Amino acid sequence: MRSLRYALAIVLISSAMVFLSCGTKNPPEGNKKITVVTTLFPLYDFTRSIAGNKADIILILPPGVEAHAFEPKPADIMKIDKADLLIYTGKYMEPWAQDILKSTTSNKLAVVDTSLSIKLARLNPAHGDSEPDDRRHHGSYDPHIWLDFTNAVKMVDTITEGLCKADPGNSDFYRKNADIYKEKLSALDKEYKKALSGCRKTTLIHGGHFAFGYLARRYGLEYISACKGSPNSEPTARKMIELKKKIKENDIHFVFFEELLNPKVSEIIAKETGATLLKLNGAHNVMKDEFQKGVTFLTLMEDNLVNLKTGLECK
Ligand SMILES: [Zn+2]
Repeated sequence: MRSLRYALAIVLISSAMVFLSCGTKNPPEGNKKITVVTTLFPLYDFTRSIAGNKADIILILPPGVEAHAFEPKPADIMKIDKADLLIYTGKYMEPWAQDILKSTTSNKLAVVDTSLSIKLARLNPAHGDSEPDDRRHHGSYDPHIWLDFTNAVKMVDTITEGLCKADPGNSDFYRKNADIYKEKLSALDKEYKKALSGCRKTTLIHGGHFAFGYLARRYGLEYISACKGSPNSEPTARKMIELKKKIKENDIHFVFFEELLNPKVSEIIAKETGATLLKLNGAHNVMKDEFQKGVTFLTLMEDNLVNLKTGLECK
């Protein structure tokens, strides 16, 4: 075990060294654009907002694919090997990223872990299922950091630093765009805070997996999800009873379901309690048609706010 940890430490240190040395030693030649591989949709969208047309940005997660179950295929690994930068959420969201770091033969690939500057929330078994299978998938920390917009600002900063190191010639451009984007995130946070401060209900009942813990905490909401870790897990009978009791006790009229998944659990809860279903998008990924229509993280979050205001019966 110790030798495994040691080997992992070597890999992490060497990848950190690659990160620190990249860019200053090997800036892209001439006007050649850097290639950036991103894992989840928020990272893709943040990166394109910062880099604009100065970088080729790839979203490795195919449209419509559930993010937690995703593992890169050999063709994806080849894309990563050829890239200048890999931007991922963190080890609790993409545990496979560390294996890629171990196996890559690229001498130019720099890696950006966007969770490094963020204090992760520990998953609390008292607030949901704590089945060992779920915990194995998500680890013991909540990986959905992008759903607190103050975290999203920090992620933008980390991505910007990564871009500037990989492509120092365009640093000013990246930093200027990052400042503009961070303003938009801060405005969104203010809008949420104002809209969600005067609601009749303060409990968010979610038929999906535990994705909105950061969002709920930021705006002082109680959050209860049917499933804990993986979106593919099933809620326990005890959890279903608890949810229905909560809905009844608090006279809740709306239940949220999540994107990209069959809303079966939410439908059962709604049917048995008379509640109405509303969509809440965790933005892990988008559908092909949404992607083609140019949906953005900000528009998804604006749509969420409309439904949150309805569901929580806000003024
Ligand atoms: Zn999730």
